Amino acid sequence: MVVRSSIGQELAREYNGLCLGVPASHSALQLLLGAKAEGLCTILLSTKRLYDAIYSKFHHLLDEALIVDSWRELFEDRNTRLLREKNTVLIPHASLIEYVGVDTLEDAELPIFGNRWLLRIEANWESKIRLLEKAGIPVPRTYRGPEEIDGLAIIKLPGAKGGRGYRLVTRGSHKDIPSNAIVQEYVVGVRLYTHYFYSPLLERVEVMGMDLRLEANVDGLARIPPRVLEELGLEPSYVVVANIPVVARESLLARIIEYGERFNRAVKEETKAAMIGPYSLEGVVTEKLEYIVFEFSGRIVAGTNVYTGLGSPYAFLYWSEPMWMGRRIARELREAFEKRRLIDVVT
Ligand code: ADP
Repeated sequence: MVVRSSIGQELAREYNGLCLGVPASHSALQLLLGAKAEGLCTILLSTKRLYDAIYSKFHHLLDEALIVDSWRELFEDRNTRLLREKNTVLIPHASLIEYVGVDTLEDAELPIFGNRWLLRIEANWESKIRLLEKAGIPVPRTYRGPEEIDGLAIIKLPGAKGGRGYRLVTRGSHKDIPSNAIVQEYVVGVRLYTHYFYSPLLERVEVMGMDLRLEANVDGLARIPPRVLEELGLEPSYVVVANIPVVARESLLARIIEYGERFNRAVKEETKAAMIGPYSLEGVVTEKLEYIVFEFSGRIVAGTNVYTGLGSPYAFLYWSEPMWMGRRIARELREAFEKRRLIDVVT
């Protein structure tokens, strides 16, 4: 297999120290705490508003903060140079991707912990589903047009953020679906978001935990009698508000592990580069105990925040100590640095 080389690897060759570059928001607190647990230095990358409101209250976790007026400013030459001088490895997360876009991250003149080409695949709905299919992971059916809908379907607007603007339709109720919408089979069952970590050092996929999301207002509707819902014409929406930890019945682990490993292999084939670090599969387990995956994240997911400081039961099985995603990332980086293998864990 051809292994693509990246600008981040070239830059990391020059590093004589290691500092975690943590963008504010999303999963920043668990990343900062994880870095400290592993004895690494931290640089928070933040706007003033977020710094004042949140991170200044946890200043004991910060060695430094780079405060910018706009997120794009972070990637201006003078800032990337400064971050490189401090041996910074950037940890990308969904909020950063949302703020600066995948083009900026793909070209970023900084070592990134993770596979930077996967971010682009994740950003496009078709390439995302194609990768899951290539991995042999079951995905919900996609309807090519409203006339194909033969059951319950979920309408997803491209660019919808955190489930905003999603709605449910059935055959017959599909009028005025925007032409750019994605119409996907709605899978009934129990939602399950599984977290994984691929370690290039240990060459293994670790199941790091699972969560499920509480979404407004779909998770509030069950408290309202159906006749009132109908009277008010209340429709579900899927805006992520919070996450809760879950464990799956043990027999399901076979499938969960298998899909994590398949995904890892598919990423390598598709991007010609290694999967590095955290990713997640997001789906629904049906009554037949099938795990149907409607989404993936090719980087840390905010659902892993539920295990901050405490670790998850699954991660404990590998490490016999509290291990959460932020700490796992810091450990891989620290060990890679100590073994002079930093270039194996960045792109
Ligand atoms: P986003 O990436 O914008 O958060 P998701 O694709 O994760 O959007 O969907 C948001 C929510 O919508 C999910 O957490 C889930 O509750 C619901 N959902 C999405 N797709 C499906 C599906 N095919 N079947 C059942 N529920 C779905």
